[in-house]
Amino acid sequence: CGIFGVTGVSDAANFVALGLHALQHRGQEAGGIVTYEPVDGFHSARRFGLVRDNFTRQDVIDGLPGPLGIGHVRYSTAGSKGATQIRDVQPFFGEFSMGGAAIAHNGNITNADALRRELIGMGSIFQSSSDSECIIHLMARSLQKSVPERMKDALRRVEGAFSVVAMTRTKLIGVRDPLGVRPLVIGRIGQEGWALSSETCALDIIGADFVREVEPGEMVVIENDALLSYRPFEHKKSRFCIFEHVYFSRPDSTLNGRSVYETRSAIGAELAKEAPVDADLVCPVPDSGTPAAIGYSQQSGIPYAMGIIRNQYMGRTFIEPTEQIRNMGVRLKLNVNRALIRGKRVILVDDSVVRGTTSRKIKEMILDAGAAEVHFRIASPPTAWPCFYGVDTPQREKLLAATMSEDEMREHLGVDSLKFISLDGLYRAVGEANGRDPKSPAYCDACFSGEYPVAPSDQIEKGFLL
Ligand code: SF4
Repeated sequence: CGIFGVTGVSDAANFVALGLHALQHRGQEAGGIVTYEPVDGFHSARRFGLVRDNFTRQDVIDGLPGPLGIGHVRYSTAGSKGATQIRDVQPFFGEFSMGGAAIAHNGNITNADALRRELIGMGSIFQSSSDSECIIHLMARSLQKSVPERMKDALRRVEGAFSVVAMTRTKLIGVRDPLGVRPLVIGRIGQEGWALSSETCALDIIGADFVREVEPGEMVVIENDALLSYRPFEHKKSRFCIFEHVYFSRPDSTLNGRSVYETRSAIGAELAKEAPVDADLVCPVPDSGTPAAIGYSQQSGIPYAMGIIRNQYMGRTFIEPTEQIRNMGVRLKLNVNRALIRGKRVILVDDSVVRGTTSRKIKEMILDAGAAEVHFRIASPPTAWPCFYGVDTPQREKLLAATMSEDEMREHLGVDSLKFISLDGLYRAVGEANGRDPKSPAYCDACFSGEYPVAPSDQIEKGFLL
């Protein structure tokens, strides 16, 4: 998901809508905005679909007045998969004795089932099937006297990955979990405004200056133009999601001070060193494979070409909720540049192989177009484990790499060769010169290594085997 918030501007809703539009790649199912102004209080709009279809409408924006606002774009990883109800769309709102508060959450709470049972046992009435709603109920039960203090209480009970943007009548609040699994950055708008955003690309669109990241385990509270920083959690070594570098974040964002584009290009160069092959063209699977393909081409000296053209107006395959839609989607979204491909030995660079369904279809399209050979090079190690921290990978049995060796996968996909970047190579590409330190990895890489930095306790209870 993508989260965004602003304060200290005349028309927060417009800023939030633009920010969410820039974060649309993080979630396309639904979006919501909450604002506050002193006369009528809180205002909220939650809608299915894209930001540009809902939050560019004057009547919607007019209904969201005020200088303070937050928003969320949804990508369902928990809750009612494939059948999101409007009640699952964030921001969520709670009315407390000291006033209301709205929250928007990116990540996944790994003990949400247990918390929900406990809270329902104590009388909480849940409105949605979202894991994020637990935070509001935990806040409602806290005895603290202010909203930020209640949030601290609530978030200390929560396990897993969470970046949160929240607001009260006067405050804009940002929090990252102790491991800092999901990103969150702070921006300055002119002399008086502030923004919080999942990624820096959304600061650029509103002309805000990047100030710094909210640090793992940090809570920032912005009020009356002052930013206060708190450390509500026990200190832990950070474990940022390495897959944000590979796929999730936009290439024009920076993560940990590194350009995502440059990191992806470095991944491609590393891949070319690890898995060279004699071929005529290097083609990306658009769009997230593009910088890695450029890096592969530069390192190998094999010409880069756009062998597959993407229809810009379709969503991203991986992000849509049902398998049926995913299967239909590939040909609608991607088409082969036949004149270029015919008779050529093609290296296809993609960001990941999850179920393998998209990769197989793309291979068929390339062969149909007359390619002489197809070589897959993948910018991440084999995805052999599900993510429980906010990326919608399927159950383990459905992951190709969980049940097949690399050679079996190559045969299954029907390609001439298939190579994945090594985990060490990926670490080098994201800036860890010595590769992955197995005793204390610098990132979360559980979907590749099976080493979960936070035990997925709800899943273990359901029988998931580590
Ligand atoms: Fe990211 Fe993978 Fe960890 Fe999920 S399991 S947070 S996708 S690195």
